[in-house]
Amino acid sequence: MGRTSKDKRDVYYRLAKENGWRARSAFKLLQLDEEFQLFQGVTRAVDLCAAPGSWSQVLSQKIGSQGSGQVVAVDLQAMAPLPGVVQIQGDITQLSTAKEIIQHFEGCPADLVVCDGAPDVTGLHDVDEYMQAQLLLAALNIATHVLKPGGCFVAKIFRGRDVTLLYSQLRVFFSNVLCAKPRSSRNSSIEAFAVCQGYDPPEGFVPDLTRPLLDHSYDFNQLDGPTRIIVPFVTCGDLSAYDSDRSYPLDLEDGSEYKYTPPTQPPISPPYQEACTLKKKGQLAKEIRPQDCPISKVDTSQP
Ligand code: SAM
Repeated sequence: MGRTSKDKRDVYYRLAKENGWRARSAFKLLQLDEEFQLFQGVTRAVDLCAAPGSWSQVLSQKIGSQGSGQVVAVDLQAMAPLPGVVQIQGDITQLSTAKEIIQHFEGCPADLVVCDGAPDVTGLHDVDEYMQAQLLLAALNIATHVLKPGGCFVAKIFRGRDVTLLYSQLRVFFSNVLCAKPRSSRNSSIEAFAVCQGYDPPEGFVPDLTRPLLDHSYDFNQLDGPTRIIVPFVTCGDLSAYDSDRSYPLDLEDGSEYKYTPPTQPPISPPYQEACTLKKKGQLAKEIRPQDCPISKVDTSQP
């Protein structure tokens, strides 16, 4: 597959490179902001699961570059620096990372917490949804420590079978919970974003890092009938915006010829780097197929 065919496949990928965003995900946050004015009055924000950093770029441009604004970005992977963004490399499900984030906001809480976290997808839908839910709940737990009353929490969500349980948990902490799908998020993906506005924890609630938010003993059936929470579903992004499931011609509308643009921020020490080095040296082990294996050529018809 050539570079140009990959570009052509995804208009938001191409637009991201043209506009200097590190990833196409930038458009998801921008389209969510168009609908919900997420950045209004925001001076302090947390970007959880931030690498390669396009959401942090958006936050940095909207709030971080103003002298008083501060953005804290966290990811398992290293990320190239951005102006006005403090970086923490760590796992958001770990106590040590959560404590490090919380320290930054002691005495001066955040207005906005965003989380675009995605686990490595296994293809087993139930497992993937469960892992995604755990990431969301780890993010929510951190949000309960750092958000100021009335603050906002936005997190990627997989609209799977048990999504109602997540909505119920979010509704405990926020007065308004919606499920939003930006136009830059493919229709073919179960991804959407929980937009939770008006942080308002129950009276007497004390944030506690040791208390798991997903209560495994919870009876899922309790969420049937009148206790079942159905949150509004909103699509966002201008209707004239590009459709992420379509392919568009490479040549521009003004007739000028398409020119390849390299990625804005190549990954820093990606996990596949060692494999690439070994491949260049011809040292990467080749897959052994059964038909290449001498044992399969043994004549088994003889006793
Ligand atoms: N919002 C990012 C952007 O705009 O560039 C893209 C985020 S990417 C879809 C998902 C990220 O989640 C990956 O960089 C991955 O390393 C991170 N991630 C997954 N599990 C994590 C965890 N437990 N703690 C921290 N980051 C995690």
